[in-house]
Amino acid sequence: MSEKLTSKTVMELEDKYGAHNYHPLSVVLAEGKGARVWDVEGKEYFDFLSAYSAINQGHCHPKIVKALTDQAQKLTLTSRAFYNDSLGVYEKYVTDYFGYDKILPMNSGAEGDETALKLCRKWAYTKKGIPENQAKIIVCADNFHGRTITIISMSTDPDARNDFGPYTPGFITIPYNDIPALEKALEDPNVAGFLVEPIQGEAGVMVPAEGYLKKAYDLCKAKNVLFIADEVQTGIARTGKLLACDHEGVRPDVLILGKALSGGVYPISAVLADDEIMLTIKPGEHGSTFGGNPIAARVAIAALEVVKEEKLAERAEKLGKLFRDEIKKIPSDMIETVRGKGLLNAVVIRPKGGKTAWDVCVKMAENGLLAKPTHDHIIRFAPPLVITEEELMHALEIIKKSILTFE
Ligand code: PLP
Repeated sequence: MSEKLTSKTVMELEDKYGAHNYHPLSVVLAEGKGARVWDVEGKEYFDFLSAYSAINQGHCHPKIVKALTDQAQKLTLTSRAFYNDSLGVYEKYVTDYFGYDKILPMNSGAEGDETALKLCRKWAYTKKGIPENQAKIIVCADNFHGRTITIISMSTDPDARNDFGPYTPGFITIPYNDIPALEKALEDPNVAGFLVEPIQGEAGVMVPAEGYLKKAYDLCKAKNVLFIADEVQTGIARTGKLLACDHEGVRPDVLILGKALSGGVYPISAVLADDEIMLTIKPGEHGSTFGGNPIAARVAIAALEVVKEEKLAERAEKLGKLFRDEIKKIPSDMIETVRGKGLLNAVVIRPKGGKTAWDVCVKMAENGLLAKPTHDHIIRFAPPLVITEEELMHALEIIKKSILTFE
């Protein structure tokens, strides 16, 4: 296809030839740089979704793209049947960075979660002494961990689950942010792990009560249960600390990372744990053709270096406060509440005159800012962490102007 594509033709192509498993806004993006993206007609937008927090380091970060292109010209993939000269270097770097003995590299966030679940079960049988096939893992209502059959088996979202059964057994669901419910569930001696998002991103940026993670961690420790944190969305500086668990000084037994581990340049996920847990998985028992490939290894190192070099956690902390303060000043009763940590925030929209969060997002897109509702009435605002204060103020003007159109 050599002719210049218009937004309309691209949307028609997707509609005709692609599965209808997403419902995008009518914007066709062609370029990105830092906190901004451009559509095929050249219109500029602020990106306030950041590919669900994968683009923390900003679109097309030159250092990360260079790591990708340099490595792509040398060696892309060998499979784990052989060693490659990048993986060990990455493994040392990433385990030092997050303070764990070992990493198991995968590709998507869902695979990271699946890996953590398998690791937890293996540890349950080989270390904790839970009888064969009896291990249970506690999960939280309204979680989002991905889309595989086992992961949707842990979900309480009808859209994720309905007509996809039968489901994988072995999970106990409790309400999020509910310590008594966790205490009760932990009474079952066959519980091996507790899987939790430190902030529930897809559920609408649900921030638990202060102290929840620490209390949950302590309860798990008392029962010899693994505390498994899914930081695929919250991790890597998004919430104002390197990990969201750092806000409460909690070090998960098993840590799941994805998304911004590559700065959005490549699908890279990882599970980190200490030897006692990680070495329960033996050769041949788990893996992935692309997991730990040389490009992924070099890209992840560069992406993590950028986080430190550009002090992205500190930026997220400071700019996040500014964002919430400024949103609170907007004189509209459509804004029910704003909540979040760092630059992972949500505004809950009270519908007005038939206008909903979707209409607000459409209006913001017209005015040059991209965000998307999660559920019907919540808009998540999560720009790349490299956004400057000046850009953020400009973006806030667009948000304000868009919401006030409905007054
Ligand atoms: N876990 C969390 C907390 C997520 O937010 C997501 C994606 O949004 C996933 C896991 C799944 O990641 P992926 O879409 O890369 O499989």
